Amino acid sequence: MMQIVTSVRQMQALADSLRADGKRIGVVPTMGYLHAGHLSLIQLARERSDRVITTLFVNPTQFAPGEDLERYPRDFSRDQELAAQAGTDVLFAPQTNEMYPPGYSTYVAVEKVSSILEGKFRPTHFRGVATIVTKLFNITKPHVAVFGQKDAQQAFLIRKLAGDLNFDLEILIAPTVREEDGLALSSRNAYLSDQERPRAAALYQSLKRAEFLIAGGERSAAAVRAGMMEILSAAQPTAIDYVAFIRPDSFTEVETLTPPSVLVALAVRFSSTRLIDNMIIQFPDSG
Ligand code: AMP
Repeated sequence: MMQIVTSVRQMQALADSLRADGKRIGVVPTMGYLHAGHLSLIQLARERSDRVITTLFVNPTQFAPGEDLERYPRDFSRDQELAAQAGTDVLFAPQTNEMYPPGYSTYVAVEKVSSILEGKFRPTHFRGVATIVTKLFNITKPHVAVFGQKDAQQAFLIRKLAGDLNFDLEILIAPTVREEDGLALSSRNAYLSDQERPRAAALYQSLKRAEFLIAGGERSAAAVRAGMMEILSAAQPTAIDYVAFIRPDSFTEVETLTPPSVLVALAVRFSSTRLIDNMIIQFPDSG
């Protein structure tokens, strides 16, 4: 039976007792409206721990005014069912005032990585992410925490945060789960209209084009970007926020692509729906 916990104190007491029993705790932070991507993270947490805590909290501090906090999709009873089916032992689902009581005033900033790509378009986003993840680590006391490669910049930031602040836990990054046409699963896909949904496959198609061009020897980011833009433009998006080429080890942008691998990341808008995706592309010559 999956246990549902909404209080911070109770969650901490439960985590303490699991640790006292010698159990390895795995945590999977989510904002709910669960899909197969989230469930794959829960599955990985199961394989790598004894007890899985799935957290469900739509974190207001990672949304800017005017973003989609209020309309973010929510379905607690469905999430409860899916989380249990996937093998969650404890669902931690606090109310907003439990996490941010009146007078709350402490935030965690991870410098550099927070200011590029997503951070340029969402200047306060990663401060909210780093803060909530720090709080969730202190509340669930995990041995292992699982995040998705779908949010590549977030994954890098969390590894950095855990290292810099000496969190005594292991971070696992799980591969991106996709729809049949390649669209990365996301709770926000629910916003796409019937006309937009097929066009959204262009993000993945453009990443496949990048992979093809790089496999063929292209080493100029500008040239690969141009090839990707053809595919993206044909899908008539409202905006292409960025197509970026990133060194995976430092999360810095590059204009010349060098082995052993490059992370290609992009953000595209269809009406007010903002989609992100990425792919780590290995170089053919890197063995
Ligand atoms: P979210 O509920 O969107 O905040 O996502 C919770 C976790 O699930 C994050 O670590 C995401 O990176 C991960 N995630 C979201 N979509 C996918 C996906 N399609 N495949 C794998 N992981 C995902």
